Amino acid sequence: MDCDILVIGAGIHGAAVAHLAARQGRSVEVVEQYSHAAEGTSSRSSKLIHGGLRYLETGQLKLVRECLHAQRALLRERPSLVKLTPFHIPVYTHTSRPAWKIGIGLWLYRLLGGHPFSRVPRNRWPELDGLETRGLRAVYRYYDARTDDRALTEAILHDARALGARISFDTGFQRAECDAGGCRVECRGPDGIRIVNARHVVNAAGPWVNRVLAGFTPSIRPLDIELVQGTHIVVPGTLRQGIYYLEAPLDRRAVFVMPWQGNIMIGTTETPYRGDPADVHPLAGEIDYLLDVYNHYFSDRRGRDDVLDSFAGLRVLPAGEGRAFSRPRETILHQDPACPAVLTIYGGKLTSHAPTARQVLNNFNGVSR
Ligand SMILES: Cc1cc2nc3c(=O)[nH]c(=O)nc-3n(C[C@H](O)[C@H](O)[C@H](O)COP(=O)(O)OP(=O)(O)OC[C@H]3O[C@@H](n4cnc5c(N)ncnc54)[C@H](O)[C@@H]3O)c2cc1C
Repeated sequence: MDCDILVIGAGIHGAAVAHLAARQGRSVEVVEQYSHAAEGTSSRSSKLIHGGLRYLETGQLKLVRECLHAQRALLRERPSLVKLTPFHIPVYTHTSRPAWKIGIGLWLYRLLGGHPFSRVPRNRWPELDGLETRGLRAVYRYYDARTDDRALTEAILHDARALGARISFDTGFQRAECDAGGCRVECRGPDGIRIVNARHVVNAAGPWVNRVLAGFTPSIRPLDIELVQGTHIVVPGTLRQGIYYLEAPLDRRAVFVMPWQGNIMIGTTETPYRGDPADVHPLAGEIDYLLDVYNHYFSDRRGRDDVLDSFAGLRVLPAGEGRAFSRPRETILHQDPACPAVLTIYGGKLTSHAPTARQVLNNFNGVSR
């Protein structure tokens, strides 16, 4: 065997699995099709390390508790990359959730492991970065964390490498043949085709997940998924008080307005996506939608010409009825009994990468190394 575990993909999940595996003393290799880590979803997220307050509305309490627990661990373990930040939820006469409902939500969030919250007194509203005060009824301030998703992924991968993990960039998974003893994996790297014999394979290919799965023999039954694109835009400006958690006037979705690298980042959207994950890009309609949200809530208007940057990432969601916004966001680990050497990660959160890595490796525990 060349390694105990071969990980396909150097996003946050691939990095976290490689890091934990190396810490456990296992031999591990990561293959990544691009020349850098986090070129997929893990550099295109909202960059929040959070429990997901809005998931309370869809009853995903377990997910919220797990993410808040993971957040506390990251605040401790990666203090230079994960920072506690004030979030503000303004309640207007026109927004759909009344102040009492948000208060109960924040109380439950606190109970599940969140941080203290309060109401911003009316005489402090003028300090809120130009937030519209017409029709404003109340403003809640609570605390969650944010990060730089690419830098976090790179840091974890760096630590994995320091513990002995091998990381191969510009190396794409092509196909694999597996049996009870492991997999013979064919990858295309800078020097051509390379064969890696691994006892276990972790498919952490993000939105490419089912494309990778199609390369295995015996064939592995894929889960039925939908890709849903989320766009962010960056506009000039400064937010001194932290992040604003707003309700989009058009469809009542949650949209964040947050400080980002000296400017303002606004996101995100939910647009069904069917093409090649490599081709995802922000759509004009999404950019207008995000500008509309900003202009609805802030007095200093922004237009298309102000957009400094925009990027789109792909969520991997279980296929189903209804709006993507209310679809479950739990990570799904998939192991087909026909091919137990391979474990596939579907979906998940940046926030919960460490518990996900633990679950992945627990699945391989008890199997000989
Ligand atoms: C718009 C948006 C906002 C989000 N915001 C948040 C947030 O604020 N907080 C949060 O906790 N979570 C958030 N998430 C979720 C989180 O970002 C993702 O769950 C996470 O980044 C997925 O990481 P991953 O490692 O599974 O996938 P990816 O980061 O996509 O990594 C997969 C990797 O696999 C590689 N790969 C694919 N095919 C091959 C192949 N054949 N060979 C070799 N390599 C291959 C890719 O190049 C890529 O690098 C958000 C997601 C989206 C889409």
